[in-house]
Amino acid sequence: LTRLYGPLTALSNVRVDVMSALVSFQRVFEILDLEPPIRDAPDAVDVPRGSGRVEFRDVHFRYPSAAEVSLASLEEVATLDQRVNEPVLNGVSFTVEPGQLVALVGPSGAGKTTTSMLVPRIYDVTGGAVLVGGVDVRHATAASLRAEIGVVTQDAHLFHDTIRANLAYGLGDVADDDVWRALERAQIAPLVHTLPDGLDTVVGERGYRFSGGEKQRLAIARLLLRSPGVVILDEATAHLDSESEAAVQTALTEALAGRTALVIAHRLSTVRDADQIIVLAQGRVAERGTHEELVAAGGMYADLYRTQFAQRTEDGAAQRTEDSS
Ligand code: ADP
Ligand code: MG
Repeated sequence: LTRLYGPLTALSNVRVDVMSALVSFQRVFEILDLEPPIRDAPDAVDVPRGSGRVEFRDVHFRYPSAAEVSLASLEEVATLDQRVNEPVLNGVSFTVEPGQLVALVGPSGAGKTTTSMLVPRIYDVTGGAVLVGGVDVRHATAASLRAEIGVVTQDAHLFHDTIRANLAYGLGDVADDDVWRALERAQIAPLVHTLPDGLDTVVGERGYRFSGGEKQRLAIARLLLRSPGVVILDEATAHLDSESEAAVQTALTEALAGRTALVIAHRLSTVRDADQIIVLAQGRVAERGTHEELVAAGGMYADLYRTQFAQRTEDGAAQRTEDSS
């Protein structure tokens, strides 16, 4: 971990909007986990802990172009694309009430991933505001924002270190019992029990090679130990085998329970159970409502439902549809 720390500390001096141009979305989240990349405003306040409301108020967003980006060196600027980007979000407003689950759906390129990145402030809005627990994220301390928001992406990133270190990073002293409890709830304890080094098992290339689904469950265990009030989840699980998929789903249910959740939904069961579905299209909220309301409305969601969600009979979610309808 010490080896990772140097470069990451250096990176954190570079503004976050630059990093995103240079490194992948998932990598940004990994860095976000380690170091607050944005310096706190002098008047920054803490986001209150626990099931905060998430609010988008007339949010406009356009990815920063190279010219606006403040970089460590001009050399780096030269390597970036010089074009000015098109607006991606054009006045998006919605609220996730404490404890609610809001599903984001919409065609590819609609702005779903971008929307999810504005909550942990990986980027700043270019208009309007994003609030967590009533605090504009631009006025929130980075540490409190990190503590309050848990992110689960398709690609779980773990450090080349022990399972214990991966789970407890940044938390100070964590009792092994608590680590095991998190591993159990994340459906990964049985596997860790079989490893000769248990919690001291080193993760990664030169250590134990966990599968994608196993890594995802370890990342969920890490989230459970932190117990954030808000969870941002990208649900795509296409690369998982069905056994892993089922275990990850159970773990995700644990991760979402009792928390405020914004989910980029890919599963029928998620959209059916969502308190609210937000349909994004071309950076705008095209429709909003519950599954039943939107199916009845016969608009864009109804089409998406037929083409994307209803066909996913293999993920077990469709069986629930038959049960409950
Ligand atoms: P979705 O998740 O709904 O598929 P995204 O939020 O990923 O949509 O993308 C919305 C739009 O933003 C797309 O037109 C995409 O090309 C653009 N976009 C995404 N990431 C970047 C980036 N880093 N720089 C510039 N444009 C981007
Ligand atoms: Mg996306």
